[in-house]
Amino acid sequence: MSQTRRLIFDADHEQFRASVARFVQNEITPYVDQWREQGCCDRAIFEKAGEQGLLLMWADEAYGGAGVTDFRYEQILFEELIRHGDVGVYLTLHSRLVAPYIGRLGTEAQKRRWLTGAASGKTILAIAMTEPGAGSDLAGIGARAERRDGGWVINGAKTFISNGHNADAVIVVARTNPDERRAFGLFVVERGMAGFERGRRLKKLGLDAQDTAELFFNDVFVPDENVLGNPARGFAYLAEGLEEERLLCACQSIAHAQSAFDLTLPYVKERRAFGRPIGALQNTRFVLARRRAELDAMQIWLDALVMEHNAGRLDAVTAASAKLLSTELENRVIDDCLQLHGGSGYMDEYRISRMYRDARVSRIFAGASEIMLEIISRSLGLTERMD
Ligand SMILES: Cc1cc2nc3c(=O)[nH]c(=O)nc-3n(C[C@H](O)[C@H](O)[C@H](O)COP(=O)(O)OP(=O)(O)OC[C@H]3O[C@@H](n4cnc5c(N)ncnc54)[C@H](O)[C@@H]3O)c2cc1C
Repeated sequence: MSQTRRLIFDADHEQFRASVARFVQNEITPYVDQWREQGCCDRAIFEKAGEQGLLLMWADEAYGGAGVTDFRYEQILFEELIRHGDVGVYLTLHSRLVAPYIGRLGTEAQKRRWLTGAASGKTILAIAMTEPGAGSDLAGIGARAERRDGGWVINGAKTFISNGHNADAVIVVARTNPDERRAFGLFVVERGMAGFERGRRLKKLGLDAQDTAELFFNDVFVPDENVLGNPARGFAYLAEGLEEERLLCACQSIAHAQSAFDLTLPYVKERRAFGRPIGALQNTRFVLARRRAELDAMQIWLDALVMEHNAGRLDAVTAASAKLLSTELENRVIDDCLQLHGGSGYMDEYRISRMYRDARVSRIFAGASEIMLEIISRSLGLTERMD
């Protein structure tokens, strides 16, 4: 928990936090070990979260949402999910990263068709951009969509796709004009479509409970009703979602680091060496004091950015800065916390060892740290072609 009082929440938010914490403790905490072992969470958790009104809170009531656009509720949801559950349970990716593309770009019929199921947790969503040959350089993807009567035929392979096995509807990014580097469409490929196959569930360094898969598209016919927006403007549509995605990632990283700090503090008070608690050693005191100060500063900044985002004022460069700094701090804090656990910190049965593995990916996905640095440096007028 922050030492500094957080300034952005009122009584309604706190009440919501308490109810989410209860939900996570009852419906997620008891299953985390099992889900990590099996390599993904059970589908049922999406439906339970849907029944509780925790999915697609932003969507209109007509589509099963609650019409709540205040990002603070989303923030509370994943803070409690991480604190009491596991960072690899990807309800937020479904709810707040993928579904909004349908909310923003979908026709009335598309919204009724997919948002309602997504809000109830019966239709699980994923987004497939990355390919074996292209990740950071999205414009380099090879998946292609060719025009046919009444729709498009998609060919290509995607990898590292979160919710990949559980997903019922996947937004697939594919090239619609081979002569234009940035002409992409967003296509909703559904479970059961001929030629849509799932490959391995990928084994990872961490995020054991997160379902990450390869997906293959072999002559998949996607009817026009499954195209989101203009099939030449996909690149711009994806760019529009990036600020929120990076803010979300930043807030999750700090929630993860806060949770690691919170479980380390009682540990160092209890664990003894050289006749006293290790928390009494100057190194331990100074390490945790520094991290406490850094976490508080970062949290207050992120909370301010959440309010900027609510007001529609969060810009891409600030979101990139937040993602860069918070994911780096997450990794430093968790590394220190593991160190203070000694050998126990290296053992899987201690949560800190799993958090250490889970944290590493934050500096890679949702735009690697180097991409964030590119964005920030460009805003300073610094580019490779300056002469
Ligand atoms: C657990 C997990 C879940 C994921 N979920 C999804 C998902 O749901 N959907 C999806 O589409 N993708 C997903 N991804 C993919 C993720 O977004 C990519 O891995 C990420 O964008 C990096 O792309 P890449 O792996 O191809 O690395 P590359 O693009 O090959 O980059 C490798 C490294 O090169 C360096 N680099 C690259 N470009 C630059 C540059 N311009 N300047 C300086 N250095 C650079 C960086 O150090 C970078 O880390 C997921 C990945 C993981 C690991």
